[in-house]
Amino acid sequence: MVAALRGVDSRCAAGRAGCFRPTAFASTEELTDEELRSAPVRSYPRPEALADPVSLPGAPGKALKSLGIETYADLVEHLPHSHRDRRDVRTVADLAIGEDATIAVAVRSVSVRPMRDRRRKRVEARAADASGPVVAVWFNQPWVARQLGEGSQLLLHGRLRRRGEFWVSEHESLGGEGAPVHTVGLVPVHPAAEGLSSGRLRSLVWDARGRFLITPEPLPARLRVDERLAERAAALAGAHFPDSESDEEGARHRLAFEELLLLQLALAGRRRANRQSRRARPLAARGVVVDRWRWSLPFELTGDQKRAMAEIDEDLARERPMQRLLMGEVGAGKTVVALHAMLRAVENGAQAALMAPTETLAEQHHRTLDRLLGGALPLELLTGSTPAARRRDLLGALGSGALQLLVGTHALIEDTVEFRDLAVVVVDEQHRFGVRQRAALDAKAPEGLTPHSLHMTATPIPRTLSLTAYGDLDATALRELPAGRRPVETHVVDGTRARSRAYERIREEIAAGRQCFVVCPLVEESEALQAKAATAEFERLRSTEFREQRVQLIHGQMPSKAKQAAMEAFANGDADVLVATSVIEVGIDVPNATVMLIEAAERYGLSQLHQLRGRVGRGGHSSICILFGDATLPRLEAIANEDDGFRLAEVDLEIRGAGDVLGTRQHGLPELRVARLPEDTALLAKARDRADELLRSDPELAEPENALLRDAVVARFGSELDPIPA
Ligand code: ADP
Ligand code: MG
Repeated sequence: MVAALRGVDSRCAAGRAGCFRPTAFASTEELTDEELRSAPVRSYPRPEALADPVSLPGAPGKALKSLGIETYADLVEHLPHSHRDRRDVRTVADLAIGEDATIAVAVRSVSVRPMRDRRRKRVEARAADASGPVVAVWFNQPWVARQLGEGSQLLLHGRLRRRGEFWVSEHESLGGEGAPVHTVGLVPVHPAAEGLSSGRLRSLVWDARGRFLITPEPLPARLRVDERLAERAAALAGAHFPDSESDEEGARHRLAFEELLLLQLALAGRRRANRQSRRARPLAARGVVVDRWRWSLPFELTGDQKRAMAEIDEDLARERPMQRLLMGEVGAGKTVVALHAMLRAVENGAQAALMAPTETLAEQHHRTLDRLLGGALPLELLTGSTPAARRRDLLGALGSGALQLLVGTHALIEDTVEFRDLAVVVVDEQHRFGVRQRAALDAKAPEGLTPHSLHMTATPIPRTLSLTAYGDLDATALRELPAGRRPVETHVVDGTRARSRAYERIREEIAAGRQCFVVCPLVEESEALQAKAATAEFERLRSTEFREQRVQLIHGQMPSKAKQAAMEAFANGDADVLVATSVIEVGIDVPNATVMLIEAAERYGLSQLHQLRGRVGRGGHSSICILFGDATLPRLEAIANEDDGFRLAEVDLEIRGAGDVLGTRQHGLPELRVARLPEDTALLAKARDRADELLRSDPELAEPENALLRDAVVARFGSELDPIPA
């Protein structure tokens, strides 16, 4: 027995080396006898075997389905989220109380006793290795007793609770067929589900390991060699059952690269499909309307604005619809750029529409555009609260083509709204609209045509994410703030004294003729609650701190007339303080406002805080932003120290991770299984470059060496993205 265990010990110490290693199976000649015997590899030479169903009876079967595992292909792709390090195999004599370890023992006798509660059972096995005896204990798993025969040899993972008593968390038999999987080495932990433990899943994957070898290799050989990437089969083995950390890392790297490459190829395919299959009316630069308007602007355009306009002009001149994302933080001057695009439509005798997600925003855009136009052209506003008579007139003018410029909310996509010749659409905060709503607006163009679209967002999106979420759009960023914008001094403060100092400071600003925003805590669950809180704060402030100042209230639950009145009063300088909910997050432009005070700042996201802060610093006076909250929170620390929205977005990404920053569904961010952002940013950039390269030499991925790659793109992202047209 001792000899047998010694054999076991040395095998354990070597981890799973000598177990399954796909690379070792490159050719039959290299197989050792033991490998041939232990691996069921040879029984699955057919690639179709991946499509075989994996099924288990009862609850575990249901759990498998809930994990999305129906075939062996699904199973081998079900990668572990982590590994437990069980490389510490000890002798009984070396065990230390309280430390996790694995031991290899032979069983001498087994007994089952009631636990203290007298209902459950405790299994005890007297066992030993060459160094000494130990009692192994299992709680509440009476069936274990039946598995343990006298003399059976076991690997036990667990912890020595007291001298001589080892509490077992996992065990497996030794010397049976195959190598140890659960108790020795880097043990994978697969995402499990109710009714199916990760141990059971591990056994399933282990038994299916032979099929790693028959998963197709989508990466062309040249690419794999250039990037020094492992073969897919080896990568799968390394990801599930690695020999070392570096083995696991290399495997993950390879699979993440592959995933990102497939994604980039899919996005490029969708980009091309969008363009090739749709026709737009080309809008030439005729130099009449647009030039005159640009001359009339009271300010000099920034370099970024000019560049954006030039890019847009190039897009508009084509027969392919423009699909451009215009990113720029609040106040970066996106509206001017949007108006440029809209006026190109006018100049060509066509129509343009701007759609915003809320009435407040639509009204704000309407005002800004009207001011930028200087009354030179008719521009109308259509929202849910447009009176019926006005709406009728407006729709008439729209149908006849007399009205060329329209701003509105979702009201724009109602069936009754008909354009004569819609050629340009601008969608503000486009992520707040669904795909269907955007498509409904597109459908307002004349039969057979798609309008040129410009999507605007004030959320700066780091390149990392725009590559994944918006890889199908061309992107333009306005980073340069218009002349006259000033950095905003930001303070994070806490406590009563700081609070009264803040109010004092605000009263000084007001005395000097400036104005102030007070933003109430965000209440995610209910707009009504938030409105209530804002109302209470409004009442408090106007009877205490700002007794002698003029205070206004605005919140999302007010009728839109009242909202508009409040906003106008503040914009005209008829109010000193505007107590608001986050409705003012985007859209308000009051250059005379110099203080932004935010209550319970920790409830807001980084980009929201940055946007709110962008409401001040818009005039000739220096401005401050006061955040009530805990200054040690990473988010609040970041906003206090950084004023570049794009850099803040990157910080946000680091703090929260990609899914939370974008909200997967909302932004169409595809689900990534292996790659992680932002950690894999460099890999993503490389994948993007490689995808471009591949498509340059083989635009349809039609070459034989790219056939499997193309299949993989369609299989993985085809349901979400148009497949690359054959
Ligand atoms: P955004 O839509 O990106 O938040 P806007 O286009 O509404 O920004 O511009 C914010 C304000 O700055 C507007 O009042 C606009 O007239 C003004 N503005 C835009 N571009 C410039 C510029 N180049 N120089 C000075 N002011 C500008
Ligand atoms: Mg704007």
